[in-house]
Amino acid sequence: MAMAFVDLAAQQARLKPRLDAAMQRVLAHGCYVQGPEVAELEQRLAARAGVAHCIACGSGTAALQLAQMGLGIGPGDEVIVPGFGFVASPESVALCGARPVYAEIEPGSLLLDPQGLEALITPRTRAIMPVSLFGQCADMQAINDLAERHALIVIEDAAQSFGARRHGRASCALSRVACTSFFPSKPLGCYGDGGALFTDDDDLAEQLRRLINHGDAGRYQHLQLGMNSRLDTLQAAILLVKLAVFDDEVAQRQGVAERYDALLDGLALDLPQRLPGNTSVHAQYTLQLEGRDEVAARLLEAGIPTAIHYPRPLYRQPAVADPSCRLPICEAACARVLSLPMHPYLESAQQRRVAEALQQALSP
Ligand SMILES: *Cc1c(COP(=O)(O)O)cnc(C)c1O
Repeated sequence: MAMAFVDLAAQQARLKPRLDAAMQRVLAHGCYVQGPEVAELEQRLAARAGVAHCIACGSGTAALQLAQMGLGIGPGDEVIVPGFGFVASPESVALCGARPVYAEIEPGSLLLDPQGLEALITPRTRAIMPVSLFGQCADMQAINDLAERHALIVIEDAAQSFGARRHGRASCALSRVACTSFFPSKPLGCYGDGGALFTDDDDLAEQLRRLINHGDAGRYQHLQLGMNSRLDTLQAAILLVKLAVFDDEVAQRQGVAERYDALLDGLALDLPQRLPGNTSVHAQYTLQLEGRDEVAARLLEAGIPTAIHYPRPLYRQPAVADPSCRLPICEAACARVLSLPMHPYLESAQQRRVAEALQQALSP
């Protein structure tokens, strides 16, 4: 059978009876929007992250936009984001009418580098948005300290990192507000779009509850503009089933990552680096190597699917471009990254096939 980059079918086979029952319960009670499963999921996710409030919403991108709307970030403001990553981070800034300002990453972990951030701060800067890329958090302590000195807000883009920890504390509990995604291929994914916001700030939480629902303060009192961005009850029911096996799946992902580390040790490539103090949920297993495109083509011929996360710096994406920006480490990363198949159900025999194909692809 062909190897999958992310095997959602294996997970579904494991959970099928439980998923079917959960979906049937929603069809039976009929509360398709803001039903009881949504509230239960929010409570469980908040408890798991160790945060006072979790507000489920329509997607990870919406969560990022809602966080900034809730904080009053808009035209004239600047938000610092890493120059390497997924477009949703700067896109959410631009959708709020603010300007994304791109910062350099650390070459080993590919995470936002706290060094050099201070030089980007201007009187317009309102927030810093570190992205917990590929399943692990950036140096949040250094970023929070800097933010505090300059009275800035930190918004964690935790779309790829729900379940990760840094020095024992959970991703989504490391900043004023954090946003995650339940896109199907994320470590905790549903069967459609979904996302959530996390905060300890009671006022902000109340504000976010209004914003996900057309700014409704109750009984059709629309005092401010909001969005229609709620998590479907069906998706919440699916997530509750998946949450029950999530710890187990994260442990399996860690096993897969460790096996890759051992199998690929000594090859002419850079293995993914984890920052000290981090526990990753391994959303991706992303190598860095020279001749990446050639190697990816040879792997594809050998039946090994790969992906390039991400092929160009965000400041070169026309939608969120900053033509004068140049960040050499971001650019080198775009030329060198290659993500290997990664999911909890990847078998060691499949990983050996990947390693052998990679070794052959690297030999002249
Ligand atoms: C997936 C992702 C998002 C967006 O989440 P959606 O639910 O797809 O809108 C944002 N940031 C990062 C880093 C992501 O990987």
